[in-house]
Amino acid sequence: MMADEKVLLDYESARGMEKENAAFFYRGASEEVTEGVIFTPRQGNSTAFVCEEGILMVDTNPQWYVQGTIDDIRANHSKAPVDSIVYTHGHIDHVTGAETFIEEAAAQGFTRPRIIGHEDVSKRFERYRQTHPWQNFINKVQFNLPGKIEAFSTVPWIDPDTVYTKELFIDVGKERFELHHSLGETDDETWVWCPGRRVLCTGDTFVWSTPNGGNPYKVQRYAYEWAVALEQMAAQKPLHLLPGHGPAMSGEERIQDALLSTANFLRSIHDQVVTKMNEGKWLEDIIREMELPVSDKPWLQPIYDHPEFIARNVYRLYGGWYDGDPANILPAHSEDVAEALVSAAGSEPILERARKLQSDGELQLACHLVDFVRKGEPDNTEAWKLWRDLFAARAAQERSLMARGAFHYAVSQAEKRLEELG
Ligand SMILES: [Zn+2]
Repeated sequence: MMADEKVLLDYESARGMEKENAAFFYRGASEEVTEGVIFTPRQGNSTAFVCEEGILMVDTNPQWYVQGTIDDIRANHSKAPVDSIVYTHGHIDHVTGAETFIEEAAAQGFTRPRIIGHEDVSKRFERYRQTHPWQNFINKVQFNLPGKIEAFSTVPWIDPDTVYTKELFIDVGKERFELHHSLGETDDETWVWCPGRRVLCTGDTFVWSTPNGGNPYKVQRYAYEWAVALEQMAAQKPLHLLPGHGPAMSGEERIQDALLSTANFLRSIHDQVVTKMNEGKWLEDIIREMELPVSDKPWLQPIYDHPEFIARNVYRLYGGWYDGDPANILPAHSEDVAEALVSAAGSEPILERARKLQSDGELQLACHLVDFVRKGEPDNTEAWKLWRDLFAARAAQERSLMARGAFHYAVSQAEKRLEELG
């Protein structure tokens, strides 16, 4: 087993995270990957390039971990001013430590670090400012967060002061850094290549799991451009790959494999969906007919996103939301449909059939049937109990964190309703 993979497995077992996404939440000590390159994996990772006249940071770690990163750089690596901070993309876990770096510079009497990002980063921040209650809510569901966590309302969003469109080459001291824009997980992405040290910072284009190219809770992702970006990164022949989440990877051959196998994974999904769309097929038929890629590579396990979600997102990018069922283009509310069905068929035969499906292990289908009863007869405690049990069972079986988030939310909704019903 390779060292990087072992790091993740040890982390997983130390935290009892078999079913959780160890790569996404992975936190390790700061590590000097190669001379003057300090990699700090803390949920959203950061990298400090220590150059002659200053430090270039790629990402900052999230606000809740950044102070530890700064303390570590100062105590163990460099007292030089931070010249620049590059955002790989505007996600909360990657950039919200910027304010702390700015405050640190002021306290030391250094000039304010320049903040560099793609020109669309600020549009993202603006969207977060507009929708922070929604962001708080949807992240609670996605990550199955306990209690009242409202990070989106409280973190500082520091806009870049230096923006670019396609690419930007900058020098810190004598060191050259190439910033390349791509679409991928987000529309504001930057990947950073340091040719002098052959170090690649991928941002979330590489995160030690099935690419987050389909997230059902969030805005559009871009599978095709993502694959192209991975291929462009591979063409640089990196010796070190510093991902957006999870441990660092070293070795030219392994990095080629990591980047190109991920690109092929995305291309396979993208190309199949597009081919079938061009054949005039609707989404559900495409999903049923296509072959989702399966891989034994440790970085392509569906523990965060799900390959089916990526397929759905490709369809959403090129198509609309219409599912091909004319009853659904100006539809009745699903509760009204359910009520009509339950009053025609009776709730008992539907629940009975659902229980049979449950005992046959057909949980997916059983959920759909029970859904009619819990909506059509919202006071039916048997329906709510079955609904709760079905989703609890599915959560226990499911590898994808994003799917599990929805299942856990269903369980908590059922428990809430059962408590109301007494
Ligand atoms: Zn991330």
